[in-house]
Amino acid sequence: MTTTDPVVRVRDLRKSYGGFTAVDGISFDIERGETFALLGPNGAGKSTTIEILEGYRDRTSGEASVLGTDPGKGGLDWKAKLGIVLQSTGESGNVTVREQLTHFAGFYPNPRSVDETIAAVGLESKQKTLIRKLSGGQQRRVDVALGIIGNPELLFLDEPTTGFDPEARRQFWELIRSLKKSGTTILLTTHYLDEAAQLGDRAGIIAGGRLIDIGRIDEIGGADARIPVVRWREKGQLKEERTTTPAALVAKLGEKDALEIIRPSLEDIYIDLVGRHAAEEATA
Ligand code: ADP
Repeated sequence: MTTTDPVVRVRDLRKSYGGFTAVDGISFDIERGETFALLGPNGAGKSTTIEILEGYRDRTSGEASVLGTDPGKGGLDWKAKLGIVLQSTGESGNVTVREQLTHFAGFYPNPRSVDETIAAVGLESKQKTLIRKLSGGQQRRVDVALGIIGNPELLFLDEPTTGFDPEARRQFWELIRSLKKSGTTILLTTHYLDEAAQLGDRAGIIAGGRLIDIGRIDEIGGADARIPVVRWREKGQLKEERTTTPAALVAKLGEKDALEIIRPSLEDIYIDLVGRHAAEEATA
């Protein structure tokens, strides 16, 4: 594999459980250094796809390559290049942060230094604390530390901030940004669309086992879905108009009550895409 080859390459990937098709022919690439957000409602096929890429699940058909290797055939040296942060390890941990990281570092051929990893996740002041005595957010930082201690080329982050308060989430985003800056390729799943918008370079949206859209975060949904709405109040009534030239409309309207320009968020666009897909499936 050369440095320009995609880190993840998936072509027409399919997975059936008995007669049920959970993943129905999806294709995408993740380039080196990229953060790719895999989005979709519950049951869409995200976990199945990711578990196939992690080498935990067989595929029914299609091609998959992760760091140049078929994940169904990846050996220990390949596994050592992956970092996996599962939804919740549930490990309460009767050992300290430092002990746990030192222990796991021993499993990898080329680990990060324990000190550097503790600093990267901002747990310097807690390194001698038992993991079970940490807050939920701090335990999640330990999960991430365990995910990166092996110096992975590709990091899988599965719903990393579920249950975080807003401040903890923002701190966590800083941590992920610093990993991005250091060149780590990241496959992120999240139900928080603002998180995907903050961290992702590109996103793929899965519904019903199919990729219904893929692209740069600021291009998902297409230009049409991104047209802003100008909203104002006139004679007690709320009025709105979609326009590609909101500034011109605002200038034309002049002084109006409660005048605002609303740009659709990734969440608005996502809800619209997934809703339309569900409606099409229902009529098909
Ligand atoms: P997501 O992660 O997007 O919520 P999953 O990949 O977990 O979706 O599941 C996709 C679909 O496959 C769901 O309908 C789920 O019920 C089904 N599924 C997942 N794992 C199994 C399994 N081991 N056996 C049968 N069906 C499964």
